[in-house]
Amino acid sequence: MKKIEICTYCGDEYVPKRRGVQKFCSNSCRSLNWKNKQQTKELKVPAVNPIDEKPVLAQKPSSQEKMSLAGIGNAAAGVAAVEMVKDFVTPYSEKPATKKDIEDLKAFLKSRYLLVRNLRKDPNGKKPYYDVISGNLVYL
Ligand SMILES: [Zn+2]
Repeated sequence: MKKIEICTYCGDEYVPKRRGVQKFCSNSCRSLNWKNKQQTKELKVPAVNPIDEKPVLAQKPSSQEKMSLAGIGNAAAGVAAVEMVKDFVTPYSEKPATKKDIEDLKAFLKSRYLLVRNLRKDPNGKKPYYDVISGNLVYL
């Protein structure tokens, strides 16, 4: 029983001498197919040589590019201005806490008892404090 295969290059039917490894009807088809592959590879190489591009990049920007560069500068200045305005109009409570704010807060949290100024001292002369933990008014 003869096993007929199709040539990968020319499409002709042929009987392979060695089964499995042969893809072409003849040596000429094999070499022509190989040459064809090489040509396809060459076509895939980018047409623009990167070395040729360098002088173009070194040139002064065109008027249009200058405009866009100025635009970027303006945009950056605009953002800075917006940030400044934001800082100016942002309510105090919405501003991010500074390191000092945090230190103040820590000191505040350390003090469990807060002096209550609108109450008189008790008969023993002790000052009224608000106990942050229990929520009670205490005399210390
Ligand atoms: Zn062939």
